This record gives sequence, C-alpha cells and structure tokens, in this order.
Amino acid sequence: MNAARETEVVVIGAGQAGLAAAYHLRRTGFRPGRDFVVLDHSPRPGGAWQFRWPSLTFGKVHGMHALPGMELTDADPARPSAEVVGEYFDRYERTFGLRVRRPVAVRAVRAGVGGRLLVETSDGDWSTRALINATGTWGRPFWPRSPGQETFRGRQLHTAQYTGPEEFAGQRVVVVGGGASGTQHLLELAPYAAATTWVTRRPPVFHEGPFDQEAGRAAVALVEERVREGLPPRSVVSVTGLPLDDAVRQGLADGVLERRPMFDRITPDGVEWRDGRKVAADVILWATGFRAVLRHLAPLRLREPGGGIRVEGTRAVADPRVHLVGYGPSASTVGANRAGRSAVRDIRRLLAEEPLAA
Ligand SMILES: Cc1cc2nc3c(=O)[nH]c(=O)nc-3n(C[C@H](O)[C@H](O)[C@H](O)COP(=O)(O)OP(=O)(O)OC[C@H]3O[C@@H](n4cnc5c(N)ncnc54)[C@H](O)[C@@H]3O)c2cc1C
Repeated sequence: MNAARETEVVVIGAGQAGLAAAYHLRRTGFRPGRDFVVLDHSPRPGGAWQFRWPSLTFGKVHGMHALPGMELTDADPARPSAEVVGEYFDRYERTFGLRVRRPVAVRAVRAGVGGRLLVETSDGDWSTRALINATGTWGRPFWPRSPGQETFRGRQLHTAQYTGPEEFAGQRVVVVGGGASGTQHLLELAPYAAATTWVTRRPPVFHEGPFDQEAGRAAVALVEERVREGLPPRSVVSVTGLPLDDAVRQGLADGVLERRPMFDRITPDGVEWRDGRKVAADVILWATGFRAVLRHLAPLRLREPGGGIRVEGTRAVADPRVHLVGYGPSASTVGANRAGRSAVRDIRRLLAEEPLAA
C-alpha cells in the first residue's frame, strides 16, 4: 500500500465554499497542490451548479454572489446557470492556479498519526493537519416518507432528478415543498402539465421587495443558533422566505401558486387528505430540499446527540482541525464566501505553532 501524501490542509469540495477557501489559502501563502489540495468528485468545475436543470437559467437565480477576487461579468441571463457558473468556476480555478483534483471522491476522514487527519480517497490517501469540508448538500436529496408512498403507480422524482418541464407535458403533477425550487418547478410546469397541485407542510411565506441586509442577518442568525446547539441546520431559505418577484406574483394571481396543506396519504392514483379530498396524479415531484453531505466524516464522531455537528464560526467544536464551510448559516453563495475566509483565518492560527513544511 502507498504511504499517505502529506499536506497542511485538505479542502473537500470545489463548489462556492471550497473555492472561496482555496482562494484565501493561496492568498495567505499556502501553495496549491503542496501546502493544500482541493479534492472534488464531480467531473467538471461548477460545484452542484453543473447538475442543475437547463431551464434554471442564470436570470432565474436569486442573488448568486461572485467568488472572492474575480467578478462574474456579462453573464447572459438566458443561458443555463449550469453553463454560466461552470465556465466561471473553470476560469476562476485556472486564474488562481488552484489545481483542483477531480474526479476524486473522499470516502472517509479519520484520526491519523501524529495528531494528523487521514483522508481516504478514490485516488489514495492524504495526511493533513487541517481539513476544510465544503461538500454542500446536492449529494443528499431529502425525501420525506408518506403513508402509501410505495403503492403509487405513477412516477416519483426529486428536484435533484428534474431536468425541465417538457417531459411532463399532458401529465398531472403534484409538487411537494415550500422552497424556491418548488415554486420554480410549478411556474415552469404550468404551461406544459395537464394540471399542477402545490402542497407544503407550512404555509409559504413570501417577502416583498429586496431582501435587505438586516433581514438577511437576522435569518442567518437563526440558522447559526441551531448549529451552535448541535442541531441539524435548516436551510437559509427556510428562514428568509420566498422572494416575491414578478413571476411569483403572476403565479399567485393565476392560481398556479395556490397552495394546499400536505396530503395525508399517497394512493396508487394520487394523493388524499383525511377529510376525503383527493387529487389524481401521474407524477409526484418532491421539492423537499437537501441535507448536508457529511457521511465521510463519520469516523471522527463529530455528531451531537441532537443530530447535527456543533460549529463555532466554521470550526467543529469537537475537533478544531475540522472546519465546515457552506454548512448551516453559510449555505448560500455569500455565506460560503465569508466562511471560506474565516476558516482560513482560523486554520492559520491553528498551524502557526509550527511553520509550513519546506
Ligand atoms: C436549486 C438550487 C438553487 C440555488 N440557488 C441559489 C441562489 O440563487 N443563490 C444562492 O446564494 N444560493 C443558491 N443555492 C444555494 C447554493 O447552491 C449554495 O449556497 C452554494 O452554491 C453551495 O456551494 P457549496 O460549495 O457549499 O456546495 P456545492 O456547490 O454543492 O459544492 C460541493 C462540492 O463538493 C463535492 N463533493 C461532495 N462530496 C464529496 C466527496 N465525498 N468527495 C469529494 N468531493 C465531494 C461535490 O462534487 C461539489 O462539487 C441554490 C441551491 C439549490 C439546490
């Protein structure tokens, strides 16, 4: 067996959070490919954006923040965000020479020798002094369970498998979920589908006008409080509410965004409420969000009894060598940028006791 290669910092994930962290590492003197390595299991640059459906054009994205040090200018709002962001991340990686290694899947991180961490990957092992985990959520779609789900004769899919509205032409679609993906699916499907029905657990909350900084900060603070207590984070959007833009306003006026409470069971032909109401369906589209991809960290036993990882800033309370960026309160493009910088500042402090390897 080959010995583990040594480095100072391993960054897992080359999405917004991982690239922001890599940028700050490089800017503060860590050499890419030597003092730090970035590992990503996706085939191309772009993080999770590369997998998003083609009809999610750049113009439909709500407030994508540029990465630190390089603006995203002249993007055509009509082009798929998968392409726009993929090209931008590619340019970014090359401009700053970040030397992302892909496709490399991290399988497990465990305690190594000499106070180091051992990162086991599909391309051999790394021994590192610190870890920045930036693995996002796309790899872990969340499907709630519903009674009767296995009896449904139609098709069930999650946002993660959605590729656009055309394939649902003439079908009756139930969309489950009160987040931004749910409303976007409904607005897209309405002209194609024979019928759409929107169900959500809680009544959706829309926010008027631009989301000001103060409201943003208050919302993020709520998520922050949860992760400080070791509870699983809620998405930032779940506390900010849904932006009330022109398309959403039109959908509300047309009845496309008329919401019903969550159904009580799934039948072979559709969904049913306790009071006897029924909706026939060919498709149930679960726009029910994602959870943090953290399974590879399991050997480090960071999880609290509450089910989450307790985090102060970006640092895991149970192991100060481990930072989570793009997690909980930093799970937005702007939050990921800030988290990347803050994790690097903290790691520099941690490693300052010993100089970087020559
Ligand atoms: C449909 C949708 C639309 C969104 N729109 C917006 C928006 O408009 N504005 C906004 O601010 N935010 C938006 N978000 C949230 C936004 O995507 C995130 O905040 C941000 O882009 C996530 O960046 P990230 O780096 O944390 O994760 P990702 O972009 O998910 O990057 C994680 C990377 O880690 C890699 N990875 C995962 N596991 C492993 C492993 N074991 N080994 C190696 N590599 C691994 C993946 O390949 C991936 O490249 C949206 C999210 C969704 C789902």
